[in-house]
Amino acid sequence: MKIDVYDTTLRDGSQGEGISFSVEDKVKIARRLDAFGMDFIEGGWPGAVPKDTEFFARLRAEPLRHAKLAAFGSTRKAHATAATDANLIALLQAETPVVTIVGKASAWQVTEALRVSLEEGLAMIADSVALLEGQGREVIYDAEHFFDGYKMDPDYALRALDAAAESGASVLCLCDTNGGTLPHEIYEIVTAVRQRFGGGTIGMHPHNDADCGTANALAAVRAGATQVQGTINGYGERTGNASILSIAAALRLKMGLDCLTNEAMRDMTRLSAFVDEVANVTPNPKAAYVGRNAFTHKAGLHADAIAKAPRAYDHIEPTDVGNVRRLLVSEQAGSATIAQKAADLGYALDKKSPEARAVLSEVTAREHEGYAFEGAEASFELLLQKATGRYRKLFDLLAFRVLVERRAGDAEPITEATLRLRVGDEEFLTVAEGDGPIHALDGALRAGLLRFYPQLSRIRLTDFKVRVVTMGEGTAAKVRTIVESTADHGATWSTVGVSTNIIESSYQALVDAIEYGLLKESE
Ligand SMILES: [Zn+2]
Repeated sequence: MKIDVYDTTLRDGSQGEGISFSVEDKVKIARRLDAFGMDFIEGGWPGAVPKDTEFFARLRAEPLRHAKLAAFGSTRKAHATAATDANLIALLQAETPVVTIVGKASAWQVTEALRVSLEEGLAMIADSVALLEGQGREVIYDAEHFFDGYKMDPDYALRALDAAAESGASVLCLCDTNGGTLPHEIYEIVTAVRQRFGGGTIGMHPHNDADCGTANALAAVRAGATQVQGTINGYGERTGNASILSIAAALRLKMGLDCLTNEAMRDMTRLSAFVDEVANVTPNPKAAYVGRNAFTHKAGLHADAIAKAPRAYDHIEPTDVGNVRRLLVSEQAGSATIAQKAADLGYALDKKSPEARAVLSEVTAREHEGYAFEGAEASFELLLQKATGRYRKLFDLLAFRVLVERRAGDAEPITEATLRLRVGDEEFLTVAEGDGPIHALDGALRAGLLRFYPQLSRIRLTDFKVRVVTMGEGTAAKVRTIVESTADHGATWSTVGVSTNIIESSYQALVDAIEYGLLKESE
C-alpha cells in the first residue's frame, strides 16, 4: 500500500510566526517540493489571500511535473448556495486538479463557534464537496477538529465524513486541529473510521501541540490511513504542524512502507535547508534527521566506539537522509575523537601517536582558557597543521595598535588600526580605518598582505560574534570572538580567539581566518 505525502508548507506552514512568503518564494518552494517527489502540494488559499491567487496563476502557466497541486478553502457560507459562494468560485478559478476543503466535524464547534444547526453544518460540507466534484476536481475533505469532535460526539463526527464521502470526496482527511490528541487515541479513532469507510482513502493532518505530531501520523498509518499531511521543518501556527520529512523518513526507513523514494530520502537534508533559506528561518540544529546535530557526537567514549563501528550511536545511517555524521572537538573528547576529526579533515593521525596526544593536550589547555573549537573548526585545523608539521607560516605580526577616537559632534567613533608585519625578510607598517576594531584590523591586514597574497581578494569576513566567557571566580572576564569567513567559491569557515581584551581576541580570530583562507586557497 502506497502512503501519499501531502505537503502544506505553503498554506498551513505559512501561518507560522515569522514566516511570510512572497509569490516568488512560493513558486520556488513549490518547484523544489515537486522535484523532491511530494505527491501533493497545497499551494494556498485563493480568493482569501490575494498573493495565493497570483501563485496559482503562475503555476497554471507552468504546471508542476510530478506533484498534484491543491488549492485550499473552506466550505460554503451558512444558509447560502454553494454555486454562488465567492470562496468556492475562487477555488474553481485556481484550476488545480485537487481542491482541499475544510469543514467542521465537531458538533460543539458547529453549534458554538459556527453557530449554525448541526444539519446545516453537514449540508455546508455536502454542498461544497458536490459542487467541486461536479466540476471535475479531486476533492480532499479536511475534517476540522475531527478528533476532539469524535471524543465528544462520535456520531456527528462520522456523519460529517459521510456527508463528504457521499458527495464525492476522494480523501477523508482527519485533522487534529488543536494538536492535543495522543497517539493511542489516534490509533483507536482512525481504526473506528477505517471500519466504517472500508474502501475510502483516509488522511491524517497532525499538529504538534502535545509534541506528538509525527507519532500521531504514524499511529494513523498503522490504523489504516494512507495519506499524511505536514510541513517542511514543522512550520505552522503555535508549536507547528508535524514535520512531513520526519513522518516520511519513519514510514520509509523504519516501517518499510512505500512512501517517496530512497533518492528523495537522500535529498531531504538539502530540501530542509533550502526551505529554511527561502523562508529566512534559522535552521533548528536539533531537528530530527535533517538537523546539523542530528548525527553529532561529543563524548569521547562515543567517539571511540564510532571510530570502530560508525553506527554504534546513530539510529540510522546519516547518508540515508543526506545528512553527515559529525564529531565535536571538546574538552571531553579523547584522542579517538581527535584522530577521527583529523581523518575527516584529511590528516592521518593514529590516536596513540604523540601528535594526537599533543593536539589533545593543546585543545584541552586552550578550552580551559575559554576557547571553543566546536564552532571554529578552521582554528582546530590550524592547530592540527602545527602539530603535524604541515603548517606554513605566511606572515608574522610584530606589533599592532588600535586607536578609537570620538569627538563631540561625531555620529560614530573612528577606529584606526596600525600593524607592523613581516613577510619573508620584509618588514613594514600598514594602516587602515574601519567601523570598529575588527573591521579596521581586517582592513590593515589586507592592505599589508594583498601584494604578497593576491588570493586574499577572494576571501571575505562575513560575520563575527563576541561573547563573554565566565572563567573561575576572581579572574578577569574573558572575551571569545568567533569570526566567520567565506571564499568566492563558496567555502565558509570559522575561527576563534580568546583574551581578556576584546581587540586581542578579535585579532587572534582574524589572523586564523586569514591564514586558514590563504593556506586553503594555495592548496
Ligand atoms: Zn492545520
